[in-house]
Amino acid sequence: MASRKERLVVVGGVAAGMSAASAAKRTRSEMEVIVFEKSPFISYGACSIPYYISDEIKDYRELIAVTPDAAEKERSLVVRTLHEVTAILPEQKEVLVRSLEKGKEERVAFDKLVIATGAIPIKPPLSGIDLQHVFTLRTLEDALAVKRYIDDWSTRDACVGSPECAYVKSLSADKGERPRVVIVGGGYIGLEMCESFRKRGLDVTVVEKMDRVLGTMDMSITAIVEEKLQNEGVKLFKETTVLGFEGADGRLSRVLTDKGNLDTDFVILSIGVRPESTLAEKAGVVLSVNKAIGVDAHMRTNLPDIYAAGDCADAISIVTGKKVYIPLGTTANKQGRIAGENAAGRETDFEGVAGTAQTKIFDLEVARTGLTSVDAEREKIPYIASTVHGRSRAKAYPAGKPIFITYVVERDTGKLLGAQMVGQEGVALRIDTLAAALYGRMTIEDVARLDLGYAPPFATVWDPILVAANVALKKMGKR
Ligand code: FAD
Repeated sequence: MASRKERLVVVGGVAAGMSAASAAKRTRSEMEVIVFEKSPFISYGACSIPYYISDEIKDYRELIAVTPDAAEKERSLVVRTLHEVTAILPEQKEVLVRSLEKGKEERVAFDKLVIATGAIPIKPPLSGIDLQHVFTLRTLEDALAVKRYIDDWSTRDACVGSPECAYVKSLSADKGERPRVVIVGGGYIGLEMCESFRKRGLDVTVVEKMDRVLGTMDMSITAIVEEKLQNEGVKLFKETTVLGFEGADGRLSRVLTDKGNLDTDFVILSIGVRPESTLAEKAGVVLSVNKAIGVDAHMRTNLPDIYAAGDCADAISIVTGKKVYIPLGTTANKQGRIAGENAAGRETDFEGVAGTAQTKIFDLEVARTGLTSVDAEREKIPYIASTVHGRSRAKAYPAGKPIFITYVVERDTGKLLGAQMVGQEGVALRIDTLAAALYGRMTIEDVARLDLGYAPPFATVWDPILVAANVALKKMGKR
């Protein structure tokens, strides 16, 4: 029997999967690397979906980093789109793969396997959830469907032919000019979509179950975001639970909530994701927090030669040392690379996550790293929270903007646990200094001593990071 090359099989071809595949090939060029992806697309930036729907990015192809063709020609990878891995057979070291075009199933042997199956949107079993025009927003296909729907509204007078177009045309006479959207969930994706939809001229309502938007962030930050939403004409219903959806002829017309009903044309369901770990679990892979795949620092699962990375996997919090599930593209890329390198024989490890995230909500930059007060309470860590506002530029330099910073600090040790910021400029990248501080296990005193740069267009002579650290120290009785 002819011997074959050592083979890595990767399941899932977006951020983690393609990072793993490319890293493995770079590490060991003689290894054969095959990626199976069940959708038609690979290697796209879902993070840019809000800007595609707002029409700031016109062509969806801009979101794609590498096409299957380029991956084969430029990276020497074998890429099979529209191929779903239906089972992993760890004993036989094989996967079962179904071609979604031809319906044929084949067995493919592997020496190493990387599971990068990502996450899927949470869809609770509410009445009417499967009505047409209740959209989720996770994949490029979801983005295409939502944009097509809005485009059909805006071109309805000129439209001929498409059933969607004919439908919205029939509505426009009695429903006014602007399509109405209800966004269920006030997390960062839901709020980014508020800006996208307002830019497209839509009537936007957000329904949020909790007492604030942006999940566990401190109210010192979320109150500013909520004011911004209001000023931009977004209707926000907090502490409101969606009970179901209603419509006629299979099409949505109303969102039912515990505080009353909302007439709408379409819904974006944005209440979070869950790891796509079913395939792994069935194969005997041990799951951990939130049913994410449990991995070690080398991205190894409990099964030999099987790795996992990205939104399907867990990670260690560098703040608490505990396992967490924080699905982010930045982590998926890093974990994917490390899984690929290890699968190809290089020893590298992933230290963990701080949960650093940035988002743009209209002209506000919002950012966080580490723990919020809510997180610290949940972890039963005694803490102090301190909020101050500084400025993005020197007072004498024109057009500076306020920056609000909240620090969460361990009360007994002074260890920095986390930071959150909001402002119109100078926020999104400033948070990275504090993410680095968390990696350095710094105390708030260490942060106050940092030698940060200063020039009037970029900062005040005492950077807001330092001002906030000094105020926190004062609050702790150390100044
Ligand atoms: P996924 O992107 O979910 O990819 C997994 C792939 O595996 C999918 O294509 C799926 O079809 C495929 N697959 C699953 N099962 C199988 C199977 N059995 N066989 C074959 N293929 C399979 N993150 C940030 O860090 N910053 C941001 O600003 C940001 N903004 C975002 C905005 C939006 C609108 C969205 C939706 C996400 C955003 N994210 C952001 C999150 C980021 O996009 C994800 O963390 C990232 O895509 C995760 O990559 P992944 O490869 O782990 O998983």
